[in-house]
Amino acid sequence: MKVTALAGGVGGAKLLVGLQEILDPGSLTAVVNTADDAEIFGVHVSPDIDIVTYWLAGIADKERGWGVQGDTFTLVDSLARLGVDAWFRLGDRDFATCLYRTNRLQEGVALSEVTGEVARQLGVPTNILPMSDNSVRTEITTWDDRRLKFQEYFVKERTAPEVAAVHLMGIDTAAPAANVLDTIATADRVILCPSNPIVSIGPIVGLRGVRAALRAHRKVIAVSPIIRGAALKGPADRLLTSLGFRSTASGVAELYRDFCDVFVVDRTDADEIEKVEMTGMAAVAADTIMRDDAASAALATTLLQL
Ligand code: GDP
Ligand code: CA
Repeated sequence: MKVTALAGGVGGAKLLVGLQEILDPGSLTAVVNTADDAEIFGVHVSPDIDIVTYWLAGIADKERGWGVQGDTFTLVDSLARLGVDAWFRLGDRDFATCLYRTNRLQEGVALSEVTGEVARQLGVPTNILPMSDNSVRTEITTWDDRRLKFQEYFVKERTAPEVAAVHLMGIDTAAPAANVLDTIATADRVILCPSNPIVSIGPIVGLRGVRAALRAHRKVIAVSPIIRGAALKGPADRLLTSLGFRSTASGVAELYRDFCDVFVVDRTDADEIEKVEMTGMAAVAADTIMRDDAASAALATTLLQL
């Protein structure tokens, strides 16, 4: 069975670990958000690609969610010692990945190519594709009318500001990376991971042709990142509410209504099923909290049996 999964960072990575475990090598493709990317300390940081790659390579710091397990922070601490405002905590090994990426991009190699190289060198059997080789950058307007780059909002200001608007800079001119549309069309199942619907899944679906490719597919399955009205981690719940959506599983389903076929809510949200079905898609309940790899694999198995 061939599976294509759309993912952001941690919520996506956890489900991908389970899918990778139960599928044959090479039959899983992850299409990963790059709208969080940023130039930091002179290198091209791709937070979601790296989170997904490290989790699938088995070297992620799972407590923290991002970065490499056991990484050191000599470089950022040394920069701070020189007076640099080092608010972005990039570990030393993590920095090496970003430096490699930056050098390859400067040589004219596409991001999708570099992403595949890193994944292969780290022994990842899954095909990891950035959503686009072109630049798309999320920016935030806050309620007090400041304009922040995504990492300034997410890391520097720890998602504290209330969000008035989300801007996906470059989304109208960016093309999906080569293979993205094809890998959706030819997959037996397309899975929308329980990633942030606004800033992780939103940019991928916003790329030209992606929404139509999802609509044309008959087995698109989404897992809710919102459980009992709240995100397990991160600002997804507050973002939904600030932008006028409901912070519930059915609120997320509403955003996916035109292209999703089956929506999976958490077992504890069974009362959401009826509301999801009102959008016209099928809904089922499952254990969606991925506490460990076994829970990820169990959820992945359930999804492929739907
Ligand atoms: P980020 O880029 O690292 O913020 O990660 P994503 O966009 O991929 O995912 C963020 C979302 O993942 C949050 O809304 C969380 O609620 C959700 N999430 C994290 N872990 C789990 C889990 O085990 N199960 C479910 N259903 N959602 C999860
Ligand atoms: Ca992210």
